[in-house]
Amino acid sequence: MKNSKQNYTNETFSHIYIEKDALNYSLTNEVISKLNKSKIIYIDNYNEIFSRKNQNPFLQKLSPSLILAVKKGDFIYKGSNLCHNFEQQDFYYTNFIVNCLYDCDYCYLKGMNFSSHILFFVNLSDYFNELRRLIVEKGKLYLSISYDSDILLFDGIYPFLKEWIKFAKENPLITIEIRTKTSNYKKFLNYSPIDNLIITWSISPQEVISKYEKNTPSLERRLIAISQLLKKGWKINLALDPILYIGENWSDKYKEFINSITENINIKEINAITLGVFRIPADYLKRFKKFFESSISFFPYQTINGVSTYPEELKNEMIKFVYSELKNIFDKTNIYIL
Ligand code: SF4
Repeated sequence: MKNSKQNYTNETFSHIYIEKDALNYSLTNEVISKLNKSKIIYIDNYNEIFSRKNQNPFLQKLSPSLILAVKKGDFIYKGSNLCHNFEQQDFYYTNFIVNCLYDCDYCYLKGMNFSSHILFFVNLSDYFNELRRLIVEKGKLYLSISYDSDILLFDGIYPFLKEWIKFAKENPLITIEIRTKTSNYKKFLNYSPIDNLIITWSISPQEVISKYEKNTPSLERRLIAISQLLKKGWKINLALDPILYIGENWSDKYKEFINSITENINIKEINAITLGVFRIPADYLKRFKKFFESSISFFPYQTINGVSTYPEELKNEMIKFVYSELKNIFDKTNIYIL
């Protein structure tokens, strides 16, 4: 991916599909004005493009289009039991951006969506209205806003960050989590840290990044970003998730990885760490095998209750090892395992 925002967006989104209803939102014009070389095609409903059957998501991933649509129906979802909830009872997620420009071999979006086109819902105000209602109903909420994309990649063309920071400031009963692999921390320097906005950095050994997290920043660049924002007082979690079986010497690789974390950031300043091995709904894994030829797809997983993951013994060994390394250097009450 190019560093220049303008370059990558113009090259990546050669076509923009716009729902006619989305033309009523100023955000639509804002996005179009930043992608002035893209060809625009008007549509009635985003599902005509996004949910069409018999698409090849592998090919689309090489050159995705952008879809601008108006979200209708549900805006906020109860968190899946495959996700970390930090023992929060009222754990929800939302998706105003769907799909990603990074290309992780293990990404569940590849199994979940028929398309790899990038989808922006432009009616953010409807999300905020629904959240205000939910806060009144529940009292306190934990909301992840980036499970279905690495949203920070898009803030240059869809300026959502300032809106969510404003919403978090006005609504202290909500905790907002943004999960990312980006190294572009500078956008956060425009704001003061707030207690109820957590940035969860997803990190992996460099070998995993090089092999399985295509287009993403290196471990070194992610750790620089984390260390810069820790210095500014932002609340940061680390997600060592998914932990992958990367051959017989996997434990040496993970030990080295944990050492490099402690060498590059002050781990005691981290808010929480989450751990989990690769896991995925079995029907998503079937789609992986059909379209994406990665060794991740073809490992002999065990499937229990519709979820495929490593065999129990291996899974326990991997979690136990990483946990025991981490608890030597980090408060174990703030380590969460799934
Ligand atoms: S960064 Fe996250 S959302 Fe993007 S491809 Fe990787 S796993 Fe999927």
